[in-house]
Amino acid sequence: MIIDLRSDTVTKPSAPMLQAMLTAPVGDDVFNEDPTIIQLEEKLATMFNMQVGLFCPSGTMTNQIAIKAHTQPGDEVICDVNSHIYVNEGGGVAFNSGVQVRLLNGDRGRIAAKQIEENINGDFDWLPRTALVSLENTINKAGGSFYTAKDIEPIAQLCKQKNLPLHLDGARIFNALVATNESAQQHGSLFNSISVCLSKGLGAPVGSVLLGDKAFIKKARRIRKVFGGGMRQGGILAAAGLYAIEHNITRLKDDHARAKQLEKMLQALPFIENILPVDTNIVIFNVAEKVGSQTFVQALQKHNIKAVAFGKNTMRMVTHLDFNDDMLSEVGKALKAITL
Ligand SMILES: *Cc1c(COP(=O)(O)O)cnc(C)c1O
Repeated sequence: MIIDLRSDTVTKPSAPMLQAMLTAPVGDDVFNEDPTIIQLEEKLATMFNMQVGLFCPSGTMTNQIAIKAHTQPGDEVICDVNSHIYVNEGGGVAFNSGVQVRLLNGDRGRIAAKQIEENINGDFDWLPRTALVSLENTINKAGGSFYTAKDIEPIAQLCKQKNLPLHLDGARIFNALVATNESAQQHGSLFNSISVCLSKGLGAPVGSVLLGDKAFIKKARRIRKVFGGGMRQGGILAAAGLYAIEHNITRLKDDHARAKQLEKMLQALPFIENILPVDTNIVIFNVAEKVGSQTFVQALQKHNIKAVAFGKNTMRMVTHLDFNDDMLSEVGKALKAITL
């Protein structure tokens, strides 16, 4: 048995999910005729109190389409210094949209209205035009920390007042909703666009949905085609997303509980340091300098456990749908056996 804690993207579709995919009615989505994709887009739009949805192959694509739709070349996007759109999308903001980023130091990735306000450029010919604010929830690189709706409200207010669109990279928004016990509607009402991933904790094999108003999604649809993301009978994939939404949201609390248990197990190890507070399903920690993360990754590998090194001393473990209590106790045993 291999225990894979590298990411919550590693899950494989379950038998009932595959069954739902097999029986999904499909059509050509470039002609907007795939009933299953339409159902998924409508379902998520309604959940988040947004007008329309757009099914896309990946969360990177939904973020990149949103940035492209909200900006012009030379504009500036305000985001946290460790945000996925800046660190993990291959420089796409520059490549696809010709924009630059204004990087803020958030509190575990959470940027505040005051910080944002101080970094909105005045209307001078020589300053880049501030065009977009982008938040992430939950925040991957900060160890799965989250914003509550209350945290976001002043930011949404500021953006409205300054006529700035507010985008959410909601790759793990359902983890945030489960952790805060708040509703998708509450959070959805605060943003102009939201990217929701189906292939993270929800356990679908492929797919993300971009949400926004009608005019925005009309623009986004055109950009999706230009980016090569117009799929045809994609309903097969959307069916997995629909199944995931119906079955795999409330159980995210189990992933959060197991991540907490992992935290406890790691705390007991002498060579583990600085575990970031575990708020959801992500555990980020340091391995003592004299050991190094590669050595620990290799030691885990010998016990058939996979984890990723984020840097020389930093590591991440992520709990997910395909990581159960038996595996958790296997990890517990392995960690007790490892001496470095
Ligand atoms: C995974 C992830 C994405 C999207 O990644 P894809 O692999 O392109 O689906 C976007 N934002 C965050 C914070 C993520 O963790």
